[in-house]
Amino acid sequence: MIETIIPEKNTIQEPSLIWRECLKTIKDNVTLMTYNTWFVPIKPIDIKNSILKVQLPSRFFWEWIDEHYNTLITKTIHEIIGPEAKLAYIITDTQTSEETDHIHDEKPAVKIKIIEDTKPKPEFETFLNPRYTFENFIKGEGNQLARAAAGAISDNPGGTSFNPLFVYGGVGLGKTHLIQAIGNKILQNFPDKKVIYLSADIFTIEFVEAIQTNTLNDFSLFYRKMDVLIIDDIQFLIGKEKTQDLFFQIFNTLHQSRKQIILSSDKPPKDLKGLDDRLISRFQWGLTADIQPPDLETRIAILKRKAEDYGMSVLGDILEYIATNITSNIRELEGCLIKLLANASLNSKEINLDLAKKTVKEIATDRKVNITIESITKVICDYFKIDENKIRDKTRKKEIVIARQIAMYLSKELTKSSLKTIGLHFGGRDHATVIHSCTTIETLKQSDGYYKDIIETLRNNIEISCS
Ligand code: ADP
Ligand code: MG
Repeated sequence: MIETIIPEKNTIQEPSLIWRECLKTIKDNVTLMTYNTWFVPIKPIDIKNSILKVQLPSRFFWEWIDEHYNTLITKTIHEIIGPEAKLAYIITDTQTSEETDHIHDEKPAVKIKIIEDTKPKPEFETFLNPRYTFENFIKGEGNQLARAAAGAISDNPGGTSFNPLFVYGGVGLGKTHLIQAIGNKILQNFPDKKVIYLSADIFTIEFVEAIQTNTLNDFSLFYRKMDVLIIDDIQFLIGKEKTQDLFFQIFNTLHQSRKQIILSSDKPPKDLKGLDDRLISRFQWGLTADIQPPDLETRIAILKRKAEDYGMSVLGDILEYIATNITSNIRELEGCLIKLLANASLNSKEINLDLAKKTVKEIATDRKVNITIESITKVICDYFKIDENKIRDKTRKKEIVIARQIAMYLSKELTKSSLKTIGLHFGGRDHATVIHSCTTIETLKQSDGYYKDIIETLRNNIEISCS
């Protein structure tokens, strides 16, 4: 593979061709916003001895990439260039960035760093990300119970009645952060405990591999040895009966010997249709705690904290502007802040309200790129459990009318489609009907908290399903 892609002699084109290949893989693994913010600005410079040299616009940029995307980049260049491949970063000051095209080896850039593979593991890899701690997890009304239970478990794993702890809630609301924080804290409190974190889809992949390599016993034994088993996104076990069977056995062994089990999911146990009833009932043995979307104050507090973590000073009114305009989930809130910092650092501008407005707008545009009327219809029909054809025909049944109106409203909010196009998608209705639907829903949202919540949930679901 190395020979076919990299000839002996480098021409000007090669690094960009190779980098373009890398970008294809990267694009599949990150959100569009991340891709645009962090990968598009990277400039390939040259490639020698399997070292691909790229140029980054600032030190902040480098630190961010290095911290967050090291694994992805390393994996990608190994795939594209070969197992020996490394990436060298050249960082230029904003002042010198104009001259970036003329950088040579002899003229040292501000900084060069070669990304190395991550260090060999100790006895086993815990897969815990040390970044997720209680200290940087902001408390709010929406996560109070889950946070309190998490704290109690960290002081006494396996010894509280919160076993298992089952945390559920929408995407980007802090489930992964919280359950990993428990793992990190337990290791801090009890360094000898065997703690492992993994998501249910990784568990499933490993299970299948164990079957293929005839090592199912080892696999099962490995997890039964744990003191603390943390499984994220347990909904991935739905429909995977064999994996569920084995997980059931592991669960029982651990629970009987008072080992701590911590699970997360996008839904409460009783709604996990397609999961074995025996598992569902066991998931309810301990404590089930939900995480709700954060209120405005919590969103501001989170932004404030994140800005501090990035070492940036951002004025209160800017944080408030972002928190008011980005409401769906914390990941996006964080994404907006990062994009703002990136916009500022890329263009060496100061962070002000105008830049914040521009950034919020960009995020809304990024969001819209992937969202279609079809995807909106699908999410809404799934949610209300109605047939997609019904939403398009003439039915005047109340629940269908409301679903249809919400669909039109969100199509207007979340896509760039014209009123006419939206009307056509919903059974050839005219643009006046679409306007009427939009005002009806807007009024309903303001007068009825129940519908306001539903619409926000739907908006969130749509954005997630299209990201
Ligand atoms: P989920 O697993 O529910 O989809 P994550 O745990 O991945 O969500 O959270 C998304 C991002 O938001 C993470 O970067 C996380 O650190 C951050 N985050 C979520 N909740 C909080 C919180 N309460 N305080 C600080 N950061 C948070
Ligand atoms: Mg998660």
